[in-house]
Amino acid sequence: MSRSTPRLLAFLAPIVLVGCAGTPSVTVAPSIATSPTVSPPKPTPPPKKRVTSRKANLKGRVLILEYHKIAAKEARWDRSIKSFRRDLERLYKLGFRPVTLAEYLDGDMKLPPGASPVVFTFDDSHPSQFHLLEDGRIDPNCAVGIMQSFGLKHPDFPTKATFYVLPNMVFGNRKTFDKKLEYLKAWGCEIGSHTMSHSNLKKMTDEQVKAEIGGSIDWLRSHGIEPRTMAFPYGVPPKNEGLLKGFTWQGKEYKLDAAVMVGAVPARVTSDAKHHRYRLPRVQGIDGALGLHNWLDKYKKGRWEPYVEP
Ligand SMILES: [Zn+2]
Repeated sequence: MSRSTPRLLAFLAPIVLVGCAGTPSVTVAPSIATSPTVSPPKPTPPPKKRVTSRKANLKGRVLILEYHKIAAKEARWDRSIKSFRRDLERLYKLGFRPVTLAEYLDGDMKLPPGASPVVFTFDDSHPSQFHLLEDGRIDPNCAVGIMQSFGLKHPDFPTKATFYVLPNMVFGNRKTFDKKLEYLKAWGCEIGSHTMSHSNLKKMTDEQVKAEIGGSIDWLRSHGIEPRTMAFPYGVPPKNEGLLKGFTWQGKEYKLDAAVMVGAVPARVTSDAKHHRYRLPRVQGIDGALGLHNWLDKYKKGRWEPYVEP
């Protein structure tokens, strides 16, 4: 699918967006030697000091952010390095702290008092999300490099995110993929399914959907990952959503705890009667009416209330 399709759909249906930067191409880069001396830094436990003066709000909404590519310049599905740093700064100042989707689902967000959660999700496992330099160091301009350096200045804003990876992308390098998974696990990040081929699940038979999801779960399991959640390619669920709760494929069992969409509002907490765990909305890491900063502006004007840790 070309890039114009999601853009057109975004224009036609601004609330229920179907996104992702077109069908990702296979761009597996040549291998990069990694230094055996680099070991994953340990996440720092959050401090006990109250982060904001906001009152506790266990019914408030949760920002689940959606990013694709980190790039030099801003584009519809690309977040510029500068803008991504600005996103982190503003979220931090407003008392948002990172949690994974699993922690949100489990109601175990490990937040400091007065903080509100933000779930960073990255789709497509694009190389700009996690890149190692030739000497094995983390590229300071990739998404995790930017989060790492931000976390050094602000230890209560750890590199915690959920990555929806594709077998044909693997952050651009098959040889360093397992090394990167080690880092992500050490930081407390989460890996989820984004299917095998990044196709529109709605156009598939049940058997095809099972092969897309089951195949990707098998592939993740072969890398030591047991995924709990998935991101629908283009934000489009399968016709038979019941499959997500569990199915048998080639004699094996598969199930997902939740799935994320593309558009376009902060999500409900799991205790909310209207919480729908297979249709979790995400706010896009972009500027403009549908983007993160518009939602932060609305928050400052009191137009929505975030979850606040007691
Ligand atoms: Zn995608």
